[in-house]
Amino acid sequence: MLDTDFFRRWMTTTAAAVDREASNLTDLDSAIGDADHGSNLQRGFTAVTAALGKEPPQTPGAVLICAGRQLISTVGGASGPLYGTLLRRTGKELGDAPAVTRDELARALGAGVAAVAQLGGAQAGDKTMLDALLPAAEALGTSFEAARDAARAGALATVPLRARKGRASYLGERSIGHQDPGATSSALLIDALAETGDAAGGAA
Ligand code: ADP
Ligand code: MG
Repeated sequence: MLDTDFFRRWMTTTAAAVDREASNLTDLDSAIGDADHGSNLQRGFTAVTAALGKEPPQTPGAVLICAGRQLISTVGGASGPLYGTLLRRTGKELGDAPAVTRDELARALGAGVAAVAQLGGAQAGDKTMLDALLPAAEALGTSFEAARDAARAGALATVPLRARKGRASYLGERSIGHQDPGATSSALLIDALAETGDAAGGAA
């Protein structure tokens, strides 16, 4: 079972990955956006880590709701409300359970991803974070590793796509040939989940 500590570690592992990859994320965003994706997420996940340390939430759902709230209130860019919605909605789906199975998380994450699609009006193939998140949520029903592989493959597959949503869509054809920053950071989030799963000995 995945307990509250598992979810706390997932968030802090993501924060560390975002710190490590911030300049890469910002470089990707400078090619097809406004060069702030790395700093946006760094600010957001620093706030997430601080909030989780200050008043540790007591259930898996509460950890994700707390993290989502921090992202919404601290990240200025489009990605803040989108990631915030992802985590809040996923957390709400988990309810009050003190621990959940990987399968339950997979279903909750599916609902979180659907909420992102609804908020941003994007779908698969639009060259957004959804191109990593949709296949990852689906594959999480199989294993953490399958989710990680699906997210990485989804992020890479954004390179030849033309952006149809968000700032990158203003570039039209010129968005082709670059990896989407949000899909790349989503792959980091799922990487961190798989890493947390590995550390827990393939829990669930
Ligand atoms: P901003 O575009 O406001 O500068 P960020 O740079 O932090 O925000 O985030 C950009 C990322 O947000 C994009 O790479 C894309 O993956 C994601 N994104 C933007 N708009 C949407 C949308 N409508 N639906 C889903 N994801 C989106
Ligand atoms: Mg940006």
